[in-house]
Amino acid sequence: MKAVILTGRHEAHLGEFTEPPMDANAVRVAVAYCGICGTDLHKFEGKSGSRPLRLPVPLGHEISGVVEEVGANVTRFRPGDRVTVDPNWSCGGCRMCKDGLTHMCENSRGVVKGMADFICPPQENVYPIPDSLSLRDAALTEPLSCCLRGMDLLDVRLGQSVVIVGMGAIGAIMVQLCKRACAAEIIVIEPVEEKREKAFALGATRFINPMKDDPVAAIAAMGIGNVDRVMECVGLPATITTALDVAGKCATVVLFGLCDPEKTVPFNQYAAFTKELTIRTSFINPHTTARAIALLASGVIDTDAVISAEIAPEAVVDELRSRTLSRQGKVLVKWKEFE
Ligand SMILES: [Zn+2]
Ligand SMILES: [Zn+2]
Repeated sequence: MKAVILTGRHEAHLGEFTEPPMDANAVRVAVAYCGICGTDLHKFEGKSGSRPLRLPVPLGHEISGVVEEVGANVTRFRPGDRVTVDPNWSCGGCRMCKDGLTHMCENSRGVVKGMADFICPPQENVYPIPDSLSLRDAALTEPLSCCLRGMDLLDVRLGQSVVIVGMGAIGAIMVQLCKRACAAEIIVIEPVEEKREKAFALGATRFINPMKDDPVAAIAAMGIGNVDRVMECVGLPATITTALDVAGKCATVVLFGLCDPEKTVPFNQYAAFTKELTIRTSFINPHTTARAIALLASGVIDTDAVISAEIAPEAVVDELRSRTLSRQGKVLVKWKEFE
């Protein structure tokens, strides 16, 4: 089958790859769309995503598609079903799974190598999508499910003030979720000036360009009282520092952006101590896939504001190199036309 195969650092190509094996519990899905994730860009740089990298491997894990074939033991799906897939498989039997912490499964596996003609995930990872949800929008299920995990950990309360650091595809989702969570102030910190208008359209109440203004001073000058919640959506040392600096008293800071495994970030512990910060990290998407599908199907997420482009499989490697479209938002690879 055709796939975008990663073979090494800065080495990927569109070529032939062996189809994943079918078994009695597997669902063979023809991929319609596959999103390019920050983790794909990280892997292209030779760094790990949510799991250590094993090469060669097709990139991609954010898919929607149509069922082509089902294994003998599969009862819930039939050929022709429109689906999305949770790429993270957990065993259900280990200590962490038994505690409900499936994202910490000791035997976890990635079951979607999605920039390919076909994937064959186990049926428990496959989710049907309603007719009202397009295959294009359904490709946002996995990133949205990760955002829901982050939002659960951020725990925004009605009327709180939230800072979102970075407005890429993830930031554009987070702003919308914070708006829906009834945050009174949503302050976006983002160096790309062109994103200002989009931030306000999605629900931001303030926009700070850190290249022009110091975020801490700018927020102090706004007179909003206290920054209660901070969502870091970039993962760079500088933006993590900003997130901790702008956090107010008793604030919760969620470090969501994927960071470089080789880097550490020093921070002022005394400042964190006197503010009594809660610093949390958010890892993948435990138990949030069904809610992500429901939210997308309900139409409350402005997906056009998240998706920056649809590209052909032939254009993926150039995009991985240049990141031109990924800088604007979520890039979807249109793998096969269904609707
Ligand atoms: Zn992803
Ligand atoms: Zn497990």
